[in-house]
Amino acid sequence: MTDSDLKRLYPISATINSKNHFTIAGSDLSDLAETYRTPFYVYDRDTIHENINQIRSAMADFYSGPGTIAYASKAYLSRKFASKIATEEVDLDVVSLTELRFALAAGFSPDRIHFHGNNKSIEEIEIAVDQDIHAIVVDNMDELLLTERIANSKKKVAQIWLRITPDIRVATHPHIETSAATSKFGFHIINGDAANAIEYAVNSSALCLTGLHCHLGSQLFDPLPYQIAIEKMFDLAINCHYTPLELSPGGGWGVPYVEDDPDNNPEKWVKAISETITEKCNRYQIRLPKLILESGRFIVARSGVAIYQIGTQKKSINGERIIAVDGGLSDNPRNALYQAKYTANPVDQSVNSRKNPCKVVGKYCESGDVLIDNVMLPDLNYGDLLMIPVAGAYQLSMASNYNLAPRPIVLWLEPKGKVEVLQERENLEQNSWWD
Ligand SMILES: *Cc1c(COP(=O)(O)O)cnc(C)c1O
Repeated sequence: MTDSDLKRLYPISATINSKNHFTIAGSDLSDLAETYRTPFYVYDRDTIHENINQIRSAMADFYSGPGTIAYASKAYLSRKFASKIATEEVDLDVVSLTELRFALAAGFSPDRIHFHGNNKSIEEIEIAVDQDIHAIVVDNMDELLLTERIANSKKKVAQIWLRITPDIRVATHPHIETSAATSKFGFHIINGDAANAIEYAVNSSALCLTGLHCHLGSQLFDPLPYQIAIEKMFDLAINCHYTPLELSPGGGWGVPYVEDDPDNNPEKWVKAISETITEKCNRYQIRLPKLILESGRFIVARSGVAIYQIGTQKKSINGERIIAVDGGLSDNPRNALYQAKYTANPVDQSVNSRKNPCKVVGKYCESGDVLIDNVMLPDLNYGDLLMIPVAGAYQLSMASNYNLAPRPIVLWLEPKGKVEVLQERENLEQNSWWD
């Protein structure tokens, strides 16, 4: 493994021990494989903590108004993980009833919870209103009317943000781009929907419009689209004679998955956002809003590693080695969905034969069940352990039971070899839908 891969892609606590085995937070991954069997995922506490602190200290350095970080729980959440992330004193973005319930059960104060989504159910809105959560992030006019009606019927005032779609393109995969004029999300500015929604919300006695929100997409490395979006949101608000108390330009800051991906120091992101907001507020003579940065991928991706066991191997017609592992698109659909790139390394770092181009595939009955299209790997044998870094975001949270595969076991690692099970390996035979 190259030094730069180790430093950039693997958890910050990763090292290679005296047996030449890969270790994270003092746990030897081959020992963990023996105890917990493959495939399994690990999350490194220190990496999550460090990533949050990087954003937090950039906010302290560059933004002079109030600010907070919200973890986007759709990147990865389980009941236990919700408790872990709660200790980091972040806010939480949820998009479903179960995420909301996990958040409340983990002790998140409702005042730290934001509910997103473009089609929240009546039950979801009712619970959000009952709990007085910090913001129901209203996506469209139907939802605005529904939220108003529910709040009215409960004689309550619902705190809301409006999701604004600034109609700009960003450089990422189309499936994770959410701000273009054709996007299904939010109130678009160009057709007047956003202005109408602001006007409606401001005049409703059952709604309290505390802020504006946008989310441009995911896996972005350039802060410029954020700056353009923020300018558009301020211009919109001022045109509507509305001053937002809170402003969230969403999440989406990217992470490198392979050597060629750009660096992702969040300082660049936070600084650009802070400067644009400050400039706009100075120009319009208004107070700095509370800034909410919603990060999912940046916070958890690099803390996660997926560990598989190698099974069968073959040579393809063009001479490439095809290595099959005991997981695949059921635990990581990102290549199948977005042609996402990954790298891999053997857990046993003493293997040092010449590297050859390989394709890493899963075990499921689908030609698209490919984890890595191209990676250089040394000769490896049946039963060897292979790990894929940057596995913490949008893998397990998008996992399926395709071929009735159980979701893998997930471990939480803390220094000195401390291990806790975050999520047991799924037992489908105990699922009620099996009978
Ligand atoms: C998904 C999402 C995020 C987080 O995106 P990342 O790319 O994981 O940082 C933030 N806000 C909203 C509204 C989202 O839908």
